[in-house]
Amino acid sequence: MLFTSNFDGLILKNEVKGIKIVKEDDHHIYIQAGAGENWHQFVLYCIEHNLAGVENLSLIPGNVGASPMQNIGAYGVEIKDVFHSLEAYHIKDKKVVTFSLNDCEFGYRESVFKRKFRGEFVILNVVYRLNRVPDYKISYGAIGQELEKMGVKDLSIQAISQAVINIRSSKLPDPAVIGNAGSFFKNPEITSSQFAVLSSQFPGIVGYDLPNGNVKLAAGWLIEQCGPEKNGASWKGYRKGDAGCHEKQALVLVNYGNATGIEIFELSEEILQSVKAKFGVELEREVNIV
Ligand SMILES: Cc1cc2nc3c(=O)[nH]c(=O)nc-3n(C[C@H](O)[C@H](O)[C@H](O)COP(=O)(O)OP(=O)(O)OC[C@H]3O[C@@H](n4cnc5c(N)ncnc54)[C@H](O)[C@@H]3O)c2cc1C
Repeated sequence: MLFTSNFDGLILKNEVKGIKIVKEDDHHIYIQAGAGENWHQFVLYCIEHNLAGVENLSLIPGNVGASPMQNIGAYGVEIKDVFHSLEAYHIKDKKVVTFSLNDCEFGYRESVFKRKFRGEFVILNVVYRLNRVPDYKISYGAIGQELEKMGVKDLSIQAISQAVINIRSSKLPDPAVIGNAGSFFKNPEITSSQFAVLSSQFPGIVGYDLPNGNVKLAAGWLIEQCGPEKNGASWKGYRKGDAGCHEKQALVLVNYGNATGIEIFELSEEILQSVKAKFGVELEREVNIV
């Protein structure tokens, strides 16, 4: 969340705690976690109990209750892959409603809670369906390389989690040290014919084929190719006052201390406009602007 001014209203911090097994079958264990549980501590709990499925999502900052909000994802896994159901309180109707996987309409950093039911529900707890037998996903990003560097011979969810922790710690700024919200923009999706045109103009452009035939562009790469002036420096590592673009990852906007919300927002707008001017691609903010 990025607050662009003082907020005139009530802010609730969800502290609903508790982790418990609610169902088991031959292949899965269903675990319910309170919305106020810390996400990474929940991941560690699963790993300690040999429950597979969330190891690639290690070290994502935040709480369990926010995980379905934007269908958090990293290293080839999203919450939707392990999601079973959740209970949420409808603020106006004063009723608790159960949402199944289909009800949540998960998409890339999307769910009904971010769109059509925005601001209507308080998520109370989430049930995840974890695997007794792991299905390792190590082809995404640098996981394979990191496992090799770690000298891992026998693959395990413990090793994958540690590899993800190592990679994330080396390239992402720790929000406890320097203010940031992780990726500020989503990776934009374009058609394959648009991608073909852009590839001929910009041979280094980074894109990943999607199952629907479209191509997902690496927003970080697009931002790196643009900058505050037309032919000047890149946004990567750029700083204006206390608002900046992280030196190792252009997709992450950072607050070096005293930047206001509106200064961060204005920087994001300048970045968005420069990418649009150079590539004709409109970036969308992943961060919720309040
Ligand atoms: C360094 C860094 C790296 C990151 N990496 C990733 C990543 O790899 N993948 C990824 O997906 N995200 C990533 N993020 C983003 C962030 O971690 C996730 O969005 C996370 O889910 C936020 O959790 P939170 O508890 O801080 O939620 P908040 O930021 O407090 O809230 C986010 C939104 O959810 C709503 N919300 C929160 N809890 C509830 C609830 N119980 N009921 C209803 N609404 C609720 C809030 O109102 C708000 O709109 C990263 C962030 C940082 C700082």
